[in-house]
This record gives sequence, C-alpha cells and structure tokens, in this order.
Amino acid sequence: MKVVIIGNNVAGTFTAQNLRSLNEDIEIEVFTQEQYPYYTRIKLPELIPEKVTIDSLIVFKEDWYDAKRINLHLNKKAVNIDPKNKSILFEKEDKPVLYDKLILALGSTPNIPPIKNAREMKDGNRGVFTLRTIDDALQIRDYIEKFDIKKAIVIGGGLLGLELANQLKDTNLETTVVEFFPRLLPRQLDEECGTMLKNEIESRDIKVVLDATTEEILGNGKVSGIKLKDGRIFEAGLILIQAGIRLTIDLAKNAGIETNRGIIVNEFLETSEKDIYAVGDCVEYKNQVWGIIPACMEQSKIVAASIIGSKRVRYEGTTPKNTLKIVGLELTSIGIIDPSKEESGGWEILKKADKEDCCYQKIILKDNKLKGAILFGENKVMSYIYKKMEEDIDQEELRKLLELYIFVCNNCGMEYDEAKMNVLFYDLPADFKCPGCGGSKDNFKKKE
Ligand SMILES: Cc1cc2nc3c(=O)[nH]c(=O)nc-3n(C[C@H](O)[C@H](O)[C@H](O)COP(=O)(O)OP(=O)(O)OC[C@H]3O[C@@H](n4cnc5c(N)ncnc54)[C@H](O)[C@@H]3O)c2cc1C
Repeated sequence: MKVVIIGNNVAGTFTAQNLRSLNEDIEIEVFTQEQYPYYTRIKLPELIPEKVTIDSLIVFKEDWYDAKRINLHLNKKAVNIDPKNKSILFEKEDKPVLYDKLILALGSTPNIPPIKNAREMKDGNRGVFTLRTIDDALQIRDYIEKFDIKKAIVIGGGLLGLELANQLKDTNLETTVVEFFPRLLPRQLDEECGTMLKNEIESRDIKVVLDATTEEILGNGKVSGIKLKDGRIFEAGLILIQAGIRLTIDLAKNAGIETNRGIIVNEFLETSEKDIYAVGDCVEYKNQVWGIIPACMEQSKIVAASIIGSKRVRYEGTTPKNTLKIVGLELTSIGIIDPSKEESGGWEILKKADKEDCCYQKIILKDNKLKGAILFGENKVMSYIYKKMEEDIDQEELRKLLELYIFVCNNCGMEYDEAKMNVLFYDLPADFKCPGCGGSKDNFKKKE
C-alpha cells in the first residue's frame, strides 16, 4: 500500500511516524512545499533576535526519515488532486503521483483582516509581515536590519502576537500591540486576568492598545504606521499581523472534498472522498477547528489507525490548552474558562487573585470534575491540573496546592472562603468588619 501525505509539519510528520510504527511494510511518501524537514514553529519568534538557530528548530533531520523509511520530498507544492484516478499533480511536474491512501496535513496560514493596504504591502519589501515559517522569520529579521527599523506594531494581542512583541522588543524595537478586543487573550482569559496580563506586558516596555480596529496601513512605498478606525495614528517601520489563522482548504475544495472553515472529517479523520483523510490544523470536526499541537498529535494517532484499518479509536475533539511562552511570565489556560457561557448548571469556581504578586488562579469545576483553569504567575498546580482534567478531584488537596484557605470568625462562626472571594483574607483592610457580627478582622482564625 502506498500512502501519500501532503504537509510535513506536526500533523504530517507524526502521522507518518505512527503509520510506520503500526506497519513495517507500507510505502510512505511525504511532500511539502517548504524547503526544510520537520521543524517546530513554537520558537519561530526567537529566530528574529537570533536567540535560536534554524538548525536548532529542526526536530527530525534527514537521517530520521531514512531510519523510518519515510520518503520526504521538499519544495513540492501539490496543485491538484484527482480522487477518481487517485493521483496528485505537483507544481512544475508533468507526471502525477499516484496513491492508495492520501492524507492532507495542509495546516493553516496567518489570517489577514480586511485592513486597507495590508495585502498590497505584504510583499516582503514594504514592511508588512506575518510569521508562520522559518522563511518568514528570516525575512522579518533582514528587513529590520536592512532598513534599520526602530519601531514595530503587532496587530493582534493573542498568544502569538504577544510572544512576537516580546521578541521584537528584545531586538531593541519600540513595540506596540494593537488589539481589536477590549482585553488581551479574550478566548483564553477572563477580564480580571486579562487586565493583570496587560499590566505585566506594559511593565516590560511593550505598549498595549485595546479596543482598537486597524483601518489602514499607512506609507508611501514603505510602511510608516497605521491608522485606527477612531482616527488615531501610530508610527512604525514594521507591521506584523498576527490575527488568527486561516485553514488551508483550497486544494481539497477544488478536488470536490467537503469543506467549510476547514476540511470536514468524521471521527476517523476520513473526508467526504474515499481513501482521502485530513489531519492537523486544516481539519474541521463537528463545526470545531483547533490550530494547536495537542490536537495534531491526537489526530495523527487516529488517522494512522484508520489507514491501517483499525477503527477502534474515534476522535472526540481536543481540550483547548494554551501557554504563553514569554520568559518569566507563566500563563496557561486550559478547557472551559467561563462557565457563564455554558448551558448546563452545577458549575463551581475556585479563584485566587493576588494582584500584589501578580498571581491569578481560577479553577472551574462541574459536579466536582475539573473542567478548566487559568493559571497566571504560578505554575505549582499546573501538572496537577493537566493530570486531573475531566476527573473527579479532592477539593481539600486542590485547595492546599492553591494555598486557598477558609477563615472562621471566632465570635459568630461566619466563614470567609478565599476561593469564593475577590480578595485574599490577608489583603483585606485592617478595619474589615465581620459581615456576620461586625467584629474585627483579628477575630478570624484559619480553619484547619
Ligand atoms: C510562531 C508560532 C508559534 C506557535 N506556538 C504554538 C504553541 O506553543 N503551542 C501549540 O499548541 N501550537 C503552537 N503553534 C501552532 C502550531 O504550530 C500548529 O498547530 C501546527 O504547526 C499545525 O501543524 P500542521 O502540521 O497541521 O500544519 P502546518 O504547521 O501549517 O504545516 C502544514 C504544512 O503543509 C504545507 N502545505 C500546505 N499546502 C501544501 C501544498 N499544496 N503542497 C505542499 N505542501 C503544502 C505547508 O507549507 C506546511 O509546511 C504555533 C504556531 C506558530 C506560527
């Protein structure tokens, strides 16, 4: 059997690896339009200030492919799929490549919002860029050096936008992040934690502008800044757009495969065409798309099993899990973070907000099962949370880990439960009065 995989990043590569470990005999051919073997995108922002080398980003070198007998074809762009004849045509090639099973691991590309001049000025020479590949990072670095850029704007205050802004600042650029929403990371954080994060980012000399719709990129020939919808103008010689992703679907769509935002798959990662599968960022399952590595990894196991004919494991979606990777800034958001948006009841929130120490921990439970968390400034509980997701938890153990206590008034027995209050007990003002008996703060003792 000959399996062809188009796409050689996380999804394509781990599917190839899983296929090989399930079956020694199948022929595995992997094609990618990029010029590098599998590399991680996680550290791409660090390539701009040269904190990492290209070599260090490459996860599997050619000898890995040789050892696994996976044939890797670089610089090959697939331009047409013919499902009837089970063949693929590649750019600048006359002879189609035949397959028995085809896996589309086409990934995604940066989304460009409808901003005047954004597309026109994103040609590599005029100062508008996005970051997705090694070549993008090299282009950005070259542009900064060649034109001695001093100021940058990142459009998009999501995880990638913030990581990128941090690296640009480390390249000695005066950096501003412009965010459309009224707070940072709206999908990963609640309002309170979003404000804490904004303060922390600004304390690192990165300016944050919220509630800001970029209307136009300014510049005659080269970028000179941006204009917001409210008329404000910000100057910069470099604009980086990090405003979400667009799933790569055209190749599939043109072949008659069912698509929506992504390539539509069933629980076995099968597309609407026989013997064609999809995996990774390009996939849409039950109206949901992911764009994160854990989803690629999970799906790559299932698609490999499906190809081999074992349909025991079904894909059920992946719990969203995001971590901000800025040195000295611990921030993780996992699962459900805002139960008010959910239809069912039985939700409980344990929260610890220590603004002085810039620490915020919010744990979401439903019927005592761990459903989600925001952890900012403190990662002691992170491994506990990862391990216990979707499981029943021991609240006492969790409270101990979070250092969340209950204080009891000796006069009237009134309890002050830090997990349910906005202020930690020790942060209450000295003249705090017990809501039960009006007694002083000194009457309270920690409940053992
Ligand atoms: C800077 C950055 C940091 C990130 N950090 C994190 C993180 O910390 N955690 C996390 O979970 N996720 C992170 N992500 C997201 C993560 O990298 C993606 O989820 C992951 O790369 C998706 O893998 P994929 O294989 O599905 O697709 P992609 O990585 O997009 O790879 C698809 C490949 O297919 C190729 N291709 C597409 N069309 C064709 C064609 N017609 N012919 C040939 N080849 C084609 C593409 O060129 C590409 O090389 C980050 C992304 C970026 C850009």
